[in-house]
Amino acid sequence: MIDIGEARGFDFHCHVDLYKDPQEIIRSCDRDGIVTLAVTTTPKAWQQNKIWASASDYVHVAAGLHPELAGEHADELPLLERYIGETPFVGEVGLDRSPQYRDSWRTQEEIFGRVLQVSNKLGGRVLSIHSRRAANQVIDMIRDNVRPGRVLCILHWFSGTIGAAAKAAELGCYFSVNDRMLNSDAGKALVSSLPLDRLLTETDGPFIKNSVPSTVIQTTEALGKVCGLNAVQMKDRLCNNARRALEFAKT
Ligand code: MN
Repeated sequence: MIDIGEARGFDFHCHVDLYKDPQEIIRSCDRDGIVTLAVTTTPKAWQQNKIWASASDYVHVAAGLHPELAGEHADELPLLERYIGETPFVGEVGLDRSPQYRDSWRTQEEIFGRVLQVSNKLGGRVLSIHSRRAANQVIDMIRDNVRPGRVLCILHWFSGTIGAAAKAAELGCYFSVNDRMLNSDAGKALVSSLPLDRLLTETDGPFIKNSVPSTVIQTTEALGKVCGLNAVQMKDRLCNNARRALEFAKT
């Protein structure tokens, strides 16, 4: 385990295994000092990612089942439940209410509900959660299924209202912020409303073009501008938040 204070940045939501050369991405995290949460989209991907990251001090691999894949991969839920027993990091999980995933909505709810319940039962789980067009539903399910001391929920690329974000923060949620969220006035208004002690950074690479884990160094500076802090102050805040999140994680 590295000293978090030595890290240069924090990427709490990166699809390491979707880059052309995942192993090189992992090496770059160690080289550049970027603490990275490597999320996966199906439980079956977790094992391979774990092998790749086994020599890394900076990359933590999360077991997930992406809501966009919930329909086709519902039969992998038992496997996901088993892996949640083996790793404190869970993601990408959540709900997506975009029209193209409407058919799988019930299945998504079933899977996400089960993930929250299993995580709550085990405790010490850190979740990276997708909530596109489903912010309120995700927040309600967190409220109904987990206690804050048991599960640390990180809302990734949150795009709900400022009111919904406040509700999530009250429930103990964290927020991982990427470059794209800082590109619009609405995004900046949302991000600046979030409590400083709940902020983290992410890339969501490679879905956000040209982003690699070290991109979070620029994101930290941009986030600082939105929050009225210089890059060093912002990094210190993120460092404290990341430390809290990683220390929460226990198998
Ligand atoms: Mn993602």
